[in-house]
Amino acid sequence: MYDTLLLQGMRAKLVLLLKEKGITDQKVLDSIGKVPRHLFTDRSLERIAYEDRSLEILCSQTISQPSTVAFQTQLLNIKNRDKVLEIGTGSGYQTAVLYNLTSRIYTIERQKSLYENARKVFDMLNIHPQCFFGDGYLGLPGFAPFDKILVTCGAPQVPQNLINQLKTGGMMVIPVGENSHTMYRITKVSDHELKSETFGDYKFVPMLKNKC
Ligand code: SAH
Repeated sequence: MYDTLLLQGMRAKLVLLLKEKGITDQKVLDSIGKVPRHLFTDRSLERIAYEDRSLEILCSQTISQPSTVAFQTQLLNIKNRDKVLEIGTGSGYQTAVLYNLTSRIYTIERQKSLYENARKVFDMLNIHPQCFFGDGYLGLPGFAPFDKILVTCGAPQVPQNLINQLKTGGMMVIPVGENSHTMYRITKVSDHELKSETFGDYKFVPMLKNKC
């Protein structure tokens, strides 16, 4: 794996910055400190790969900025046997951050080239999330229920299929809205009761229907 001392130093600085920005979960910080973000984007962006900003990837999509990746992950409070579904594999960076917390990761991407590219990076890093090319609106009924669901694209509303695939006691973190997205954490308190909390506004690429 290509990872220089300079890149490692920049990664360590990013972890300090995320601490300053209020990320307190040490397991999340450790994971950000381990994952080589520069390998999830084009080589030409390497020098800015550890700045707290989103980065362009294929198909006009983006890797979310590290503070958002860390914040969404922290909100889910992942335990090491949790079964987690991610919607929007994209570059695979968020998937890799999750994978250090639990290896029971399922991730769906609707764009074929991103799906294929992320799988190559996972192979290179020798990590093994379960990857699916498909429409995240449908979730993965064959693998449900999940302890946690993380949506990394902005959804116009909360998809009922995903609520159905959450365990009782499980949580979903999902940005909801049209242009700007409010970060929601939805807890399935019981079969008939959901608890909703909000955590500020963000801007995500949209969650779109159907694979392509
Ligand atoms: N987690 C990614 C973020 C990528 S941006 C990363 O760390 O790089 C969000 C991704 O969601 C994009 O790749 C986009 O193609 C994908 N996406 C949008 N709608 C989707 C859907 N319905 N199902 C699956 N993926 C979707």
